[in-house]
Amino acid sequence: MSILIENLSKNFGTFKALDHVNLEIKTGSLVALVGPSGSGKSTLLRVIAGLDIPNSGRIWLSGKNATSLSIQEREIGFVFQNYALFKHMTVYENIAFGLDIRNIDSFIISNRVKQLLQLIQLEKFSDRYPNQLSGGQRQRVALARALAIEPKVLLLDEPFGALDVKVRKDLRNWLRNLHEQVPVTTVFVTHDHQEAMEVANEIVVFQKGCVEQIGKPQDVYDNPKKGFSITNSSIYM
Ligand code: ADP
Ligand code: MG
Repeated sequence: MSILIENLSKNFGTFKALDHVNLEIKTGSLVALVGPSGSGKSTLLRVIAGLDIPNSGRIWLSGKNATSLSIQEREIGFVFQNYALFKHMTVYENIAFGLDIRNIDSFIISNRVKQLLQLIQLEKFSDRYPNQLSGGQRQRVALARALAIEPKVLLLDEPFGALDVKVRKDLRNWLRNLHEQVPVTTVFVTHDHQEAMEVANEIVVFQKGCVEQIGKPQDVYDNPKKGFSITNSSIYM
């Protein structure tokens, strides 16, 4: 599914978190959204997901005006930092959650969860609780939960943020492989520009509620504007 953002603004009081954003994301892209803290990255994802209502502008999903659709109607899966796994539910129940609330047949749910457990390589962990998993495993379960509803768009807000360098590296390879197997249109926020270069096929640089730059990783790298930089210290490939 393609995403077209047209003149989108979101204010908090007099503060313009999103200031007339225009952005086109093609079907099947894997987009990294980078930019300084407070530049509006999370707000953009929340507005696309339907968790926040914009003050003006429109969101088009595959040519259809989605601006006033409910969260469920948008068919978007998301992994947000403040949307952790349900602690009192097993891995299986966490992944099945979005299907349960849509009243899907339990036989279909069971098949789907098994497929997803295979995809995230945690087949043997289905009865565990989140506190019995490592950070990297928890993030994979969060991704499986987001994928369970077979979303047309996947929004990931710093999905690997709190993890150590080795786990981050594994997970970003894993995300790239996943995207090859299941090419859902994906937008992921990262503060790590090296990670953006390695994982994404398109980079969007945000600055003060606006898109500062958009382009292929190599083009952004070769011709960066203010908001994009790769320092030697951030290279650990
Ligand atoms: P980023 O994800 O790029 O760090 P955010 O989208 O979270 O930036 O926030 C952009 C700006 O909007 C920040 O200055 C933040 O303080 C403000 N903001 C975000 N959400 C709210 C809110 N619910 N109420 C008031 N201000 C908010
Ligand atoms: Mg944020």
